[in-house]
Amino acid sequence: MAKIAHALDWPLVEGVVSDLDGVVYRGKAAIQDAVETFQDWRAAGIPYCFVTNNSTHSAGDVVAKLNSFGLEITEDNVVTSAVTAAQLIRQSHPAGTRIYVIGAPSLKKAIADAELEITDENPAVVIMGLDREITHEKLRIAVDAVLKGAQLMGTNPDLLLPTPTGFEPGAGAILTAVATAARVKPIIVGKPEVHMIEAALSRLGTDRASTLMIGDQIPTDIQAGKRAGLCSVLVTTGVPPVNDPTLQAPDFVISSLKQIPSAR
Ligand SMILES: [Mg+2]
Repeated sequence: MAKIAHALDWPLVEGVVSDLDGVVYRGKAAIQDAVETFQDWRAAGIPYCFVTNNSTHSAGDVVAKLNSFGLEITEDNVVTSAVTAAQLIRQSHPAGTRIYVIGAPSLKKAIADAELEITDENPAVVIMGLDREITHEKLRIAVDAVLKGAQLMGTNPDLLLPTPTGFEPGAGAILTAVATAARVKPIIVGKPEVHMIEAALSRLGTDRASTLMIGDQIPTDIQAGKRAGLCSVLVTTGVPPVNDPTLQAPDFVISSLKQIPSAR
C-alpha cells in the first residue's frame, strides 16, 4: 500500500488533475475541504482540470454545479468522457462518420458537435455510455452492428454507481453485455485509460512529475494517473477503497485535500 504522506515526499505541485464525485462532492453535497483547497490553488495560480467518467453530464453541467459550491471554474477546467469519446473517434474517422449512440443526451450532443452522424444504420462505431432508458432493442442493434464490423467503444468501464438507497448498474455493466455477446474487447475512453488525463494535461501545459492526479477510486482514478505518469493521490472521501494487489497503489493516501502541501 502507499507510504504515509510526509510533506517532504510531495512534489512541488504545479498542476492538478482531479476526479469529481467522491473528491469535490458526494452526490449533491460539496466536500468543503476540497472546495477550499481548489480555491486556494486558484488563488496561487496553480492550474487544475477535472476529469469525469460520467457521460450523462456536460461540461456546462459540471461548471454550474461547482459554481454553486463557490468554486469559480469554466468549461476549460472540465474534461468529460463524452467529449473525449467524440474527439477520439474524430482522430481516426472523418466528419460524417456514422455512429450508433447508446447513452444520455450529453453523449449524443458531444457526438453531434464533433460533426459525426448519429444513426442506427450501418454505423462504423458503436459508442456506449450510461443509458437509463436502455432496452433490449438498443442492445440488439449494438450487437448486430459490432458483429458486422463496427468498433465498440465505451465511455467508461464503471460497473456500479452509488445511489441514495444503494447501487445501480454503471455504463460498464451494459457495455460488458454487448462485448460479451459479440465477443469483442471494447475501446475504453475514460479512466483507467489515459485519454482524458492526456486531454487534461494538454490543457494545463504542466510537467507530469509536478502534476497530481487526485481521485477516490484505485481501479479507475489511480490506475489512470499512474499510467499517465502523474503523482497519484487517493482521497478517502468517496467510494470505500478496495484493496486489490493486482492494481498499482497510489503514491499518497489522504483523508482531506488540505493535507496536500501546495508550497514550500
Ligand atoms: Mg470518484
